Amino acid sequence: MKEIVDAVVEGIRVAETRLPKWVYERLLEAYERSEGLGRAQLAAVLNNIEIAVKEKKPMCQDTGLLTFDVEVGEEFPLKPAQIESLLAEAARRATAEVPIRPNAMDPIDGKNSGDNTGRGVPVIHIKTVKGDKLIIKVRPKGGGSEYPSKLCMIPPSRGLRGVEECLLRAVVEAGGKPCPPGIIGVAFGGTVELAAKLAKDALYRSGPHPEERVAKLENEWLEKVNSLGIGPMGLGGGPTALSLRADYAYRHPASYPVSVRFNCWAAREAVVEVSASGWRVREDLNISEEDLKTPPLEVEGGKELILPVTEEDVRNLRAGDVVYLTGTIVTARDEAHKKILEEGPPMNLKGLAIYHCGPVVAKEGGKWKVIAAGPTTSARMNALQADVLKRTGARLVVGKGGMSDSLLPFFKEFGVAYLAFPGGAALLAAKAIKEVKGVYWLDELGVPEAMWVFEVERFGPLVVAMDSHGNSLYKEVLERARERLGRLLAS
Ligand code: SF4
Repeated sequence: MKEIVDAVVEGIRVAETRLPKWVYERLLEAYERSEGLGRAQLAAVLNNIEIAVKEKKPMCQDTGLLTFDVEVGEEFPLKPAQIESLLAEAARRATAEVPIRPNAMDPIDGKNSGDNTGRGVPVIHIKTVKGDKLIIKVRPKGGGSEYPSKLCMIPPSRGLRGVEECLLRAVVEAGGKPCPPGIIGVAFGGTVELAAKLAKDALYRSGPHPEERVAKLENEWLEKVNSLGIGPMGLGGGPTALSLRADYAYRHPASYPVSVRFNCWAAREAVVEVSASGWRVREDLNISEEDLKTPPLEVEGGKELILPVTEEDVRNLRAGDVVYLTGTIVTARDEAHKKILEEGPPMNLKGLAIYHCGPVVAKEGGKWKVIAAGPTTSARMNALQADVLKRTGARLVVGKGGMSDSLLPFFKEFGVAYLAFPGGAALLAAKAIKEVKGVYWLDELGVPEAMWVFEVERFGPLVVAMDSHGNSLYKEVLERARERLGRLLAS
């Protein structure tokens, strides 16, 4: 039993630190096809992947919600319930040993279990197959790529036109939130839960659908998705999807579910095989140091900003500028935003930067050390952001994927800018964090939601994506994408 737990902990480590080879190859191709800010985002991602492989650290601070897809042979000696309890044990151990971020939260009281287990978590799907082996596919999936998932119940008479419309609208709505370029899974027919499961499974298929008519749809839809121009991190300048995979099931005559699922560039998976002769992680499926082809970080002419910043500093920034921050930044996600509004800020944040980030941290020699600290999906904070900025006096917001256009008038009036860090480039971010100066609300909110206070040096590259003059790079990209979407749907 202990050997199986060891095997799965190792599988989680491989999944978190080394991308599947096929995903990495597509990222390299995407980099070659990109330009400008899009190319710079991909260069940052590829540099981040190199650090993950060389330093054996999770490539993204969001180490995901753990999902295991399991095939158990009829003659394998363990029952499904025993396998489930071993996988939960592996999740607990991996949380401390890899380490991975505790990501399992009670949806009622917001408490984090602290060990990646809880009701329904880790997510486990077990299928019985012939033979005597146990195959465990370890698939940690981040919240940013789960957030824009979409389900459409289309009128059956719309057929494939309706599927395509649901897909393209979902991609435009997702924008930069799922850290594109990533993988898109679309499934149609069946029942709601079957469509959602097929679309999720499709995310992990490296090759085309075995049926030629579906493979043809995959190619057509991939081309249309990429013609929308959303691009790396929603900033344009390169592909939006590395791959698009489709699947289907027969449906009830009166219903036609469509599920669209996203995976980010950090499309993590590792495969563990257990048999009577022992266990192995299929390391040949994931990249190692020999596979790395890292381009240089391509950022020229970045501005240096020292925190706290003044209103004038912020007014001097224009959308499209690249900046680096030095000084104090604080993390705050959904729960910390709520706390600030309920109780007030626990420290003076005037002129500082609020970083949408839930880091991976570990204690070394009695001191906190940041392992990974990339940005989280900023759109989740849309509703609370203006009030939090008013209440704290912070002037910069750092995150990924952009925020609602409705915040632009507030940014203009109060002199605030939104800076985008390359989504998922958590190890690059961690390298710029020189010290953890403190943490607030840790016991109550858990690691990802607590407010961490970091001293940073040349933290970046950050793109000024929304400035204090009413400009937003996301708005420009999305307006163009909506126009193209309109043309595609009308054709
Ligand atoms: S790469 Fe982006 S979407 Fe993926 S897990 Fe990391 S932060 Fe989330």
